[in-house]
Amino acid sequence: MTLGQITGVPILDYHRIVPASRFGAGDDRFGVNESAFRDQLRLLRDLKISAVTPEDIASGQLPSRSVALTFDDGYSSHYKIAFPGLSEFNVTATFFVNTSSIGTGEFLDWTMAAEMARGGMQFGSHAHNHVVLTTLNSKRVNEELRVSRQVLEQRLTSPVEALAVPYGFCDEHVLEAAWESGYRVVCTSKPWPAQKGERVLSRVGISRQTSLNDFRKLVEKDAAVYLRLWGRDRALAIPRYVFLRLRPELLGVRTAEDRH
Ligand SMILES: [Zn+2]
Repeated sequence: MTLGQITGVPILDYHRIVPASRFGAGDDRFGVNESAFRDQLRLLRDLKISAVTPEDIASGQLPSRSVALTFDDGYSSHYKIAFPGLSEFNVTATFFVNTSSIGTGEFLDWTMAAEMARGGMQFGSHAHNHVVLTTLNSKRVNEELRVSRQVLEQRLTSPVEALAVPYGFCDEHVLEAAWESGYRVVCTSKPWPAQKGERVLSRVGISRQTSLNDFRKLVEKDAAVYLRLWGRDRALAIPRYVFLRLRPELLGVRTAEDRH
């Protein structure tokens, strides 16, 4: 039995892209192997699915079969591995970066980001610091969102209209701050296709656990696979909320108290 298709446009949410030689070496469960990533790009081409941006989805003007690719956290592997692959397959993507990390450690620097922007890639804000925005007071949420947008716009000289909330934690205050800071679109991490014409857009995570078969079902909006992911996400929502309040360190997230 099949449950059919869900309406909407899948927004895929990637983190690290890991070179084949290093895959499996670390414990990065959100990473995607370079060759799996290329298989996914090839499949999108074979299925004739166009890549659009979250802003396109919010505006509602879309080709009949579309998907958006997004990358979080601004890793340098996005420049070294994802960008060449995307360019080769002529696919656009949105990179959500923390402006405080750019140019440090394993992250992109401004030269890489500028080259990607010139090569047709979009940039969005992932806040200035990678911090749970719902744990900050409104003044600090505004600061996180305003500073990152300004810095990105100045450095890359193109408008920044999309925000992806760190760790997927979002509430009414964060949304309000986003609209006040000039964002048009907010991306979350609820595993469901985004709905055309809306400003708050769900995204589905792609990780090393996503088989090519699952990937195909996700981009073809197969209801059964989304219901499975949605059920798992809902089951974890309450424990995640409780841990965030009581023991955020167990979630491995950064909250208001951690910032100096
Ligand atoms: Zn993140």
